[in-house]
Amino acid sequence: MKDSVVDRRARFLEVLGIRTEWVPKAGVGTVLAGGSGEAAEVAERDQLPELPERSALSEVQAVALDREPAFEAGPAEVRPPAVVAPAREPVPEVVHALLPQRAADIAAMDWDALEANVAGCTACGLCETRTQTVFGVGDRAAEWMLVGEAPGQNEDLQGEPFVGQAGKLLDNMLGALNLARGRNVFIANVLKCRPPENRDPAPNEVEQCEPYLRRQIALVRPKVIVVLGRFAAQSLLRTTTPIGKLRGTVHEYEGIPVVVTYHPAYLLRTLTDKARAWEDLCLAREVHDRAGAQA
Ligand code: SF4
Repeated sequence: MKDSVVDRRARFLEVLGIRTEWVPKAGVGTVLAGGSGEAAEVAERDQLPELPERSALSEVQAVALDREPAFEAGPAEVRPPAVVAPAREPVPEVVHALLPQRAADIAAMDWDALEANVAGCTACGLCETRTQTVFGVGDRAAEWMLVGEAPGQNEDLQGEPFVGQAGKLLDNMLGALNLARGRNVFIANVLKCRPPENRDPAPNEVEQCEPYLRRQIALVRPKVIVVLGRFAAQSLLRTTTPIGKLRGTVHEYEGIPVVVTYHPAYLLRTLTDKARAWEDLCLAREVHDRAGAQA
């Protein structure tokens, strides 16, 4: 028998460590594009009190928390200060001229060619500092695709996205939706190599790497894409809109519906937004089921 929404919600809140009697404030809920509840949700978030764990941090660390980087936070770890991406270096004209051809070549690759190409890629400077590339993992015919920012330290060492504490939380979130890593889910990052010191990826790195993700999405052809974190959302959707305003709305990438939620590393220490992540996944489930009904 299928789990009811209430059962799934209870399990989800349990794995996130939230009291099951938690009740969302009025006005917080899933909102489809153009819905009037988005403004109310953003306004409510702006009024939230400082969380204890956040207020205990230095200002630099608090700013870093807002950035939602791809680092792996352990239970007792304090997030390192944000490292700013180097100022955008001018991309040589010849590189710009080659980008369309590179994108076209990648767009024609099958899985094997794509994986081999990523493994040997030297298209941006991150190839010099990575331990290994992180291609992505999961069911290549999945109906769900999860997209994060970039490998963190653990991912760089293990060659798999979302490992460590954030990965465990992500697996629990998937479990609460009756999904599992490798079963009807494919997980990938915008960047396949780790930015040193977990700094923000630079624009030219995103530009060079984006054709790989685009091809992965085209090959998987999921029914819904869930984007994890501000950076991944803004990169995929080519926007500078804050994540608080991207959430709760169904976006589109290459004709595939996209739902935005928080990065699991950020959720590990932000109680209020863990509850919001549940609302995001409910929206993603709704979008997925709707797409299935139309198929
Ligand atoms: S980040 Fe992407 S474009 Fe840069 S070297 Fe790694 S695989 Fe290539």
